[in-house]
Amino acid sequence: MNSPKPSAADFSFTQKKQIPGQLGRTGEIFTPHGKIQTPAFIPVGTKATVKSVLPESMDQLGSQALLANAYHLYLQPGPDILDEAGGLARFMNWNGPTFTDSGGFQVLSLGVGFKKVIAMDEETFRSDEVIADHKERLAHVDDDGVTFKSHLDGSMHRFTPEVSMQVQHQLGADIMFAFDECTTLHNTRKYQEKSLERTRLWAKRCLVEHGRLTDARSHRPYQALFGVLQGAQYEDLRRKAAQDLSGLSEDGISFDGFGLGGALDKANLGTIVSWMTSELPVNKPRHLLGIGEPDDLFVGVENGADTFDCVAPSRQARTSAVFTQDGRVNISNAKYRRQFSPIDDGCDCYTCTHYSAAYLHHLFASKEMLASTLATIHNERFIVRLVDQMRERIEAGDFLDFKSEFLGRFYFKRNNA
Ligand SMILES: [Zn+2]
Repeated sequence: MNSPKPSAADFSFTQKKQIPGQLGRTGEIFTPHGKIQTPAFIPVGTKATVKSVLPESMDQLGSQALLANAYHLYLQPGPDILDEAGGLARFMNWNGPTFTDSGGFQVLSLGVGFKKVIAMDEETFRSDEVIADHKERLAHVDDDGVTFKSHLDGSMHRFTPEVSMQVQHQLGADIMFAFDECTTLHNTRKYQEKSLERTRLWAKRCLVEHGRLTDARSHRPYQALFGVLQGAQYEDLRRKAAQDLSGLSEDGISFDGFGLGGALDKANLGTIVSWMTSELPVNKPRHLLGIGEPDDLFVGVENGADTFDCVAPSRQARTSAVFTQDGRVNISNAKYRRQFSPIDDGCDCYTCTHYSAAYLHHLFASKEMLASTLATIHNERFIVRLVDQMRERIEAGDFLDFKSEFLGRFYFKRNNA
């Protein structure tokens, strides 16, 4: 029975089956807008839309939840509009759980003009070498928050932990993330330590503000808050972040789950994820932020991440890069001109069950809008289904066989080049 007032009890996670001898597991996240069977891939609808695809299609292709970006929705249309509309899910006609990120990654990464390479040490702060050529620095971080320039109209804005919580409460997603400072692998060790402490203090402020807003907005369903773990490539910092944030409690309010964030070195992804997940409580879900390549998803699942999000499947689809069991291919290539079979024989998506590779090739060649729609449906289904299959194979007890089967075929060309 639901308590009359929304509370943390309205959100929970149950671990089901573990990969023997490993951290990977299946489970179930319960939210006020429905359940998520994990592991699960969560497609990204940056501005409350998965570009070119109807929410109904996302539902049909098996997406259990969607993730939108607080930074973009804060700038346009504004969080008050989503609040008045009844929250993100209702605004975009999505019948299921939703996530929003904190805005931290975007204000910082868009701020320096390019992705995943963010430099904020005092030493390099004024150095042009750390900013993309011809880009102006658009964000400045200090102990209280981040001041940034809108990429839309150049207006100045400021995000603090409190502002991020206020914005995300108005957006109304079931799962929100604490405001954190995202560093890069290039920052100095000294800066990583300083930044990690800053993120810890911001996490405490997020919990306090989250508690205040949960009480003040008791007419709304409970929104869960995940703390975000940073620490770049350092084992002691990653473990410390996990211990610190899982131990935090402000007026009895603690994090409902955790985001595994920041700069993640692909070659050591599994090791870094395992440092964090081995320190985290088993009864709370973990979300690996911004990861969506097939090999990375296997590594994340194997090491105990429960959910994943990434813009890559839809972004790549719009550039005619589509997934097949034999790797990613470019459907604009001339060899698809007369392929009257589907993009991928093994795919059960709407696109593959109704249209040929030749038709998609034609749509891209003639720059038709339907090209993006059909390619996005295929790519999102491919990745959603891949993670669904990982879950099924953990349940069946042969995850590692599935991993070697799938990856051996998918990366055959790369591995045998
Ligand atoms: Zn397909």
